[in-house]
Amino acid sequence: MLFSELGLSAKVLAAVEAAGYTEPTPIQAQAIPHALEGRDVLGIAQTGTGKTASFVLPMLTRLEKGRARARMPRTLIVEPTRELAAQVAETFTKYGKDQKISVALLIGGMSFGEQDKLIDRGADVLIATPGRLLDHVERGKLLMTGVEILVIDEADRMLDMGFIPDIERICKMIPFTRQTLFFSATMPPEITRLTEQFLQNPVRIEV
Ligand code: AMP
Repeated sequence: MLFSELGLSAKVLAAVEAAGYTEPTPIQAQAIPHALEGRDVLGIAQTGTGKTASFVLPMLTRLEKGRARARMPRTLIVEPTRELAAQVAETFTKYGKDQKISVALLIGGMSFGEQDKLIDRGADVLIATPGRLLDHVERGKLLMTGVEILVIDEADRMLDMGFIPDIERICKMIPFTRQTLFFSATMPPEITRLTEQFLQNPVRIEV
């Protein structure tokens, strides 16, 4: 399988090539075509399998058309920790270097003022930890009604950290016309229940 067979845009393919990757990993080969079609994806994959690029690359391709509006992010990625959120932001910057893309990182431990500026500017990609995201929503700063793609990453770690009620609130704030890409390394019953509630006819990929 080649990256060029997956349906990614020319710009994204060029960035993948520049990063030195020749072949997609199994999760990438299986998830990317479905993600590009707009299907919901349930990816059961550990860190180290290339799962980050399996959602970042199709999202970049889909974001080439259209533009972000103030306070209405087009896509949202929820991560359990600040470190993971920052790593995903770097991945977007790396593969999105040839396209105009606005990335906003909303994590705890940083001032609200700078984050408000990023929100006001309009974000193609909003990457957040659950608590800080909900803080911004409660302050009335952030409108979730325009989110076209929602990514829940490392769901089983969210469970370990007590974030499931927050994740449920976040999933309920975003219209069901969205696409949802959901990743977890393991599938305990609480996570299965979450996927049954919030994914629509997902493609299940286990690597
Ligand atoms: P992840 O599972 O997303 O944390 O990715 C693990 C590591 O694999 C990262 O350092 C990526 O840079 C690298 N990686 C992702 N996709 C590929 C690929 N197709 N070929 C080689 N390395 C990759």
